[in-house]
Amino acid sequence: MPEAVIRLPLAPSGMAAEAPPSPTLVEKLPALQAFTPEALVAAVPAITLREARKIVSRVHHTRIGQAALATPIPEVRRVAIEAVARFGHVPTLAVVEEQASALDPFVKYLFRTHDGHAVEAVRIPLEKTGRFSVCVSSQVGCALGCVFCATGKLGLKRNLEAWEILEQIRIVGERLPAGGRVHGVVFQGMGEPLANADRVFQAISVLKEPSAMSVDARAITVTTSGLPAGIRRLASQEPKVRLGWSLGSALPEARKRLMPIAKTHALDEVFDAVVHHAQTTGLSPLFAYTPLAGVNDDASHAEALAALVRRFEEASGRRPRVSVIPYNAIGADDPFTRTSPEREDAFREILSALGAPTKKRYSGGSDVAAACGQLAGASMTPTQVD
Ligand code: SF4
Repeated sequence: MPEAVIRLPLAPSGMAAEAPPSPTLVEKLPALQAFTPEALVAAVPAITLREARKIVSRVHHTRIGQAALATPIPEVRRVAIEAVARFGHVPTLAVVEEQASALDPFVKYLFRTHDGHAVEAVRIPLEKTGRFSVCVSSQVGCALGCVFCATGKLGLKRNLEAWEILEQIRIVGERLPAGGRVHGVVFQGMGEPLANADRVFQAISVLKEPSAMSVDARAITVTTSGLPAGIRRLASQEPKVRLGWSLGSALPEARKRLMPIAKTHALDEVFDAVVHHAQTTGLSPLFAYTPLAGVNDDASHAEALAALVRRFEEASGRRPRVSVIPYNAIGADDPFTRTSPEREDAFREILSALGAPTKKRYSGGSDVAAACGQLAGASMTPTQVD
């Protein structure tokens, strides 16, 4: 896709490019973006819940950073604003690069954190005009080391804080075309979201909050490589949030070769957790599958995937949605290549014939929103930014 990419100005007209806050400030003060009104009242008892809602709204909807608390907020006492301003601050991420596909409305963002790490997010157009989803990163790097993944090659640098996850979404939303809005969020960028579960769940609680980001929980998807405890927690704590499962392969031994986490959590153990999620929530999961030429794209893999889909349906009573996602090369020495269109069609036909039809994804920009971690390899390298 690089030849189809155009670079956008780093800041829309009238908006200054943002610098990340100083490390000292970030380490000392809580970030107000990560608070629901209830949590803010618990932290700053001097304010009322009604005032907390208005302050949270100001923080999320007025793009003035710390200055959000430097001007009066209607119906909020001055003493309340001052108490919150003493308690926390409003940091942000620096926008380093904004890349738009020339072929479709996908836009990829590279951000820099206060301590110099790079993270990515992708703006994904939805079918209904003006609606967008944001694919966000949850970690800098990833410890799970899936062999086809650029992010996994970095190892885990650190977890992203809840506010850093939320800022990716806010910044993407701020730069949407006129009339556009963030309708959904997909935790499918850099990192394994359920390995940073506390912060991801905190971010989800703010996403859903009407005075903050007001995203319908049913439009949020958490995609995991397969951490059973996290999947069960998602079912109980956020039963309206959807689950995606990045499979690698439905053949246990092949899955272990592609995704080392499968040596710790066997395919059947994850399968049971995903069944539990579907039974508890009534939601069908998404099975994400990325065919790699000559690795997991032959008839035996298609048959195993179809069998897994049928077994899932029998066990849970829900039919999973199967999404076959094109592979993005992750560098010059990448040992994997994308399956040819003919072979991908044959793979789909086998699935369809065996009762597990796949949904054809968008072409072009959908590449940048591939299976978790794939983001990192497309055209920007997620190493530290000077
Ligand atoms: S595919 Fe996902 S879980 Fe696997 S290494 Fe990449 S980011 Fe981590």
